[in-house]
Amino acid sequence: MNTQAARGSGMTSERTRARMIERLRQQGIKDEVVLSAIAAIPRHLFIDDALAHRAYEDDALPIGHGQTISSPYIVAKMLETLRAGKALGRVLEVGTGCGYQAAVLSQVAKEVFSVERISQLLDKVRARIWNLRIHNLRVAHSDGYLGLAEVAPFDGIIVAAAAPSVPPRLLEQLAVGGRLVIPVGVGENQQLQVIERLEEGFAERTLEPVKFVPLLERLA
Ligand code: SAH
Repeated sequence: MNTQAARGSGMTSERTRARMIERLRQQGIKDEVVLSAIAAIPRHLFIDDALAHRAYEDDALPIGHGQTISSPYIVAKMLETLRAGKALGRVLEVGTGCGYQAAVLSQVAKEVFSVERISQLLDKVRARIWNLRIHNLRVAHSDGYLGLAEVAPFDGIIVAAAAPSVPPRLLEQLAVGGRLVIPVGVGENQQLQVIERLEEGFAERTLEPVKFVPLLERLA
């Protein structure tokens, strides 16, 4: 990573980031690998300048095109659930958005693929990945309902938008022992779910109520 760009100043400094990590611990996040990854990625660089001073508050913030960057807590929770204490090889993220969660994922997985349906968001993401010298993350303009069959299977799949039901293609593209972390539901009725692929079949668990933008079909 390019540490000079990452360092920031004032409201975007390392100290501000350290306070965010403390808050995540108080909110129950325990996975040190995830906490270190979040500490390593400067969230303010993924948000427009006008809002950058709010980058380390525990909020979802607008990133344009009617989309939002997930709150630090939800990113931490999803990654902790995806890892389940184990190292991750190949991971797919659906819903790149501003690229923040994908960048954090790049610190906890060997290889990350992230797909986004709004192509205009991806130009900015590519510049951010380049500036931070992140080399194990690929982004693509693609419909996440379809997964990314050409590089499947995945040890983990994380979906950053709420689906009315679990997309079957994503289940198909999970490796045995792999986990899918996904908000399921419509409007205000969404639950974070984790689905693990077993030798035979799947094991499903509901974690907590959440609020995500909808997973939409087809490219924008
Ligand atoms: N992980 C992001 C959160 C982005 S919000 C971050 O850290 O900023 C969810 C994103 O999912 C939006 O950018 C939205 O355009 C995208 N999205 C919604 N439906 C999609 C689909 N079918 N395929 C790919 N991306 C989708």
